[in-house]
Amino acid sequence: MTDEFDQYGFSTRGIRAGTLRTEQGEQSEPIFTTSSFVFGSAEQAAARFSGAEPGNVYSRFTNPTVNAFERRLAVLEGGERCVATSSGMAAILTACLGLLKAGDHIVSAHGVFGNTALLFGNYLGRFGVETSFVSLTDAAAWESALRPNTRLLFVETPANPLAQIADIAALAALAHRHGCLLMVDNTVCTAALQRPLSLGADVVVLSATKYIDGQGRCVGGAIVGREALVGKEVYGALRTTGACLSPFNAWVFLKGLETLAVRMQAHSASAQRLAEWLGGQSAVRRVYYAGLPDHPQHALARRQQSGFGGLLAFELDGDRAEAWRFINATRLISITANLGDTRSSITHPATTTHGRLTQEAREAAGIREGLVRVAVGLEDTADLMADLQRGFDAL
Ligand SMILES: *Cc1c(COP(=O)(O)O)cnc(C)c1O
Repeated sequence: MTDEFDQYGFSTRGIRAGTLRTEQGEQSEPIFTTSSFVFGSAEQAAARFSGAEPGNVYSRFTNPTVNAFERRLAVLEGGERCVATSSGMAAILTACLGLLKAGDHIVSAHGVFGNTALLFGNYLGRFGVETSFVSLTDAAAWESALRPNTRLLFVETPANPLAQIADIAALAALAHRHGCLLMVDNTVCTAALQRPLSLGADVVVLSATKYIDGQGRCVGGAIVGREALVGKEVYGALRTTGACLSPFNAWVFLKGLETLAVRMQAHSASAQRLAEWLGGQSAVRRVYYAGLPDHPQHALARRQQSGFGGLLAFELDGDRAEAWRFINATRLISITANLGDTRSSITHPATTTHGRLTQEAREAAGIREGLVRVAVGLEDTADLMADLQRGFDAL
């Protein structure tokens, strides 16, 4: 599938790749809502179950709509194989179940999605997989955290909410020098803006709930990488443990992939304009957006990404009271932590997404009380600006 689509651009792949038209001649993909598939004979049933004959068996591990989504996303990420999962967290768990064993060690960036940090720290630890957390941008810290039993480096870039950028190619080189795998959470950029596999990463995991759906409807996730990794151990783990994607959600994500490139460009353009405007406000101490020339990893982001995405944060000249007053004064932007929706959202990280951290851990991560995060949706930028102005007027 990858080869056939090599000649086409990203949007064409997002719209056309992975389609298997049935004899009905449908233009849009059908949704196969069936739990199992019928065989022509006992011999064929045996061959399908053993894998000697490819084909559908049971929708936990073979469903045509889910497979179409997997083929399309594999082409977009530039991987040989994709396995779709019931959520982004299920993608990370299933990838770990497939690739790790008791006694292995993970080195992960500090600033990963909160549940990812809990999965590594609280749950995998119970099964004998230990995790060390290091600063995303500190190359020396990654190197010195490595142990003889380190098997996986895990990073999310850009990191949420401060938009720090990790050097994927450098981390891949470090991982490979030490016989480890590099896994990258590509939820925030998506393949439309960043392709970690082409920079040397071994596995991409993502939450399709965010920009791949793009309209805040369905929960799902995916794992992409080489056939030898994702097609064998990871697929085997999914088939056995069962955190599979539903055909309906896969169909919604297929539609999402068709508009992903134009949506990501629009999210990025609007976020860039808002970030520049926020930078000129006297009540703003600092804006966190990799598209701004004064962002510490601006040059790296330019090199590694084809756009800067829709997430930005800014620190108000104030504390929790000012941040809450600002958020409460907005009328259009939704007060919710979700991202990747057409609807913009605003949140106070210190008391929501990062509220479970201790005060010290929050300070160390740079999440201060005056920090506000905006996930820029697809409304008119002028309307978003006017809404944020209500926040400034309230201070
Ligand atoms: C939301 C999110 C996840 C988890 O995805 P779910 O679909 O909610 O399980 C993982 N990583 C990142 C970066 C996310 O934003």
